[in-house]
Amino acid sequence: MTKPAKRAQILEPTEANIQVAARILKQGGVVAMPTETVYGLAGNAFEASALSKIFLTKERPTFDPLIVHIAPEKATLADLMREQLIYPHDLSDSAIKRIDALIRKFWPGPLTLVLPKSDLVPDLATSGMETVAIRAPKHPVARALIRELGLGVCAPSANRFGRISPTSAADVLEELGDRIDVILDGGPCEIGLESTILRITEDGEPILLRPGVVTRGEIEELLKTKVLDPRETGEGGPQIAPGRLASHYAPTKPFVILPNSIAQMMTPPALGAAKPKKVGLLALSGKSAEWAETLSEILELPVVAEILSEKGDWEESARNLFRALRRLDASDADFLVAEPVPPAAIESNGIAYAIADRLKRAAGPRG
Ligand code: AMP
Ligand code: MG
Repeated sequence: MTKPAKRAQILEPTEANIQVAARILKQGGVVAMPTETVYGLAGNAFEASALSKIFLTKERPTFDPLIVHIAPEKATLADLMREQLIYPHDLSDSAIKRIDALIRKFWPGPLTLVLPKSDLVPDLATSGMETVAIRAPKHPVARALIRELGLGVCAPSANRFGRISPTSAADVLEELGDRIDVILDGGPCEIGLESTILRITEDGEPILLRPGVVTRGEIEELLKTKVLDPRETGEGGPQIAPGRLASHYAPTKPFVILPNSIAQMMTPPALGAAKPKKVGLLALSGKSAEWAETLSEILELPVVAEILSEKGDWEESARNLFRALRRLDASDADFLVAEPVPPAAIESNGIAYAIADRLKRAAGPRG
């Protein structure tokens, strides 16, 4: 079977090229754009046909709501109300104070707020829910493009649904190159993980729907209140946060998380029924060659390794996670394994927690 031709052009983000992309958006089309988190597939947030194109292009089920990305110039709480994205009467005083504080501290940046929605927001953007997810990206190219269009774009990760999120223009080309015309190249993503998603209820209760590099600890410190887990509140079944589906961010090859770190491994881990010829290892820290050799001796199989951060820095690990996973998926290994994020790190570090979340879903049971 021949692969469909790649027709997408990767464009440097010059002013002229941003105009080219903006024109496509104004005509109701979609383009890929860089953000500081991952590359997004952008379409006009207020035009239902553009939103349909996003869902079709990604093969994303329409029950999975989108995030409205707004221009930082229109990203104060007063702006959200003036532009009628949200209604003041839907929110208590406490909710308003908390949203305002969060916006002031974290926007523009990788925090998405889920708030009661207005009539202006198309149902397709919210999968028919009464709430809308909003964030103001920081990346200069995303900002410039949204500014050209006006109020906002929806921009879910520019990959086919369920697959590894793209963190470079080349990744987008690989994922959607046969389906879109333009990819604005903003270089490798600085953060590399999708935004933190925080629901603020009408009463001002914060609920963490998806962990990210804006951590629970930072939010709790700012709001001086406990951030709840969706499981504690009964909110957030898969239908309200499919970013939390059991299988997501998945490589195409079999992928499991090892029971413990390579350094602690006494006996070879069970790799299930699979009889791999070569194993791809995603290791947290240290030197790739050394870990490849160690695991190779334990498994008595050839091993190729990718390291998230030699010195074990969690921000660097977040930046490298999807890139490393994608490289292993493209390597000649036929079975992938990851070192588990240590429980102590998950407990004490919000970014380690977010990485563990992504790994769990990448290795989750596939539908
Ligand atoms: P992404 O795929 O990174 O664009 O993020 C979209 C994710 O945001 C969805 O999969 C949901 O998990 C979450 N989301 C978007 N809108 C809402 C909403 N109104 N309520 C709850 N979660 C939402
Ligand atoms: Mg995604």
